[in-house]
Amino acid sequence: MRWKRAIRKIYVGAIQRRCPECERGGLFVNHFQMRATCAYCDARFFRDPGDAMGAVFINVVISELSALAGFFFVHQAIHPPMILQLLFWIPYVLLFSLWFYPIARGMWVAILYLTGGVYADLDYEREYITSYELLEEEEIGDSSIDIP
Ligand SMILES: [Zn+2]
Repeated sequence: MRWKRAIRKIYVGAIQRRCPECERGGLFVNHFQMRATCAYCDARFFRDPGDAMGAVFINVVISELSALAGFFFVHQAIHPPMILQLLFWIPYVLLFSLWFYPIARGMWVAILYLTGGVYADLDYEREYITSYELLEEEEIGDSSIDIP
């Protein structure tokens, strides 16, 4: 039952790209830009800039492993020259990781949710984070301003 729920949440985050909490709100504004919170349940998808590192790790590992598997499969099957292999697999890794980015990011948000890292802010936290984000958007600077 736990595994079914975990697989369902990862499917919702990675494939449907929806909030793992309510399964309704979208995770992304566009292919590369993620929403900070869910439009339906206010769950905050990431709390620290470092929260994206898990998604980067997933993306790099899956891109590299798929390229390695493809490289060795093609090498065994038709023995092409090494330069042709490199000319294909290096751009493949770059393009695959760009395409795979929202899937890895949604997968990571679902993993964060399953481990208790995605939840709605309390009211005072919401006010604090919102005012802080507004200050950053206006480029006033984050180190010189005291936030109550
Ligand atoms: Zn939600």
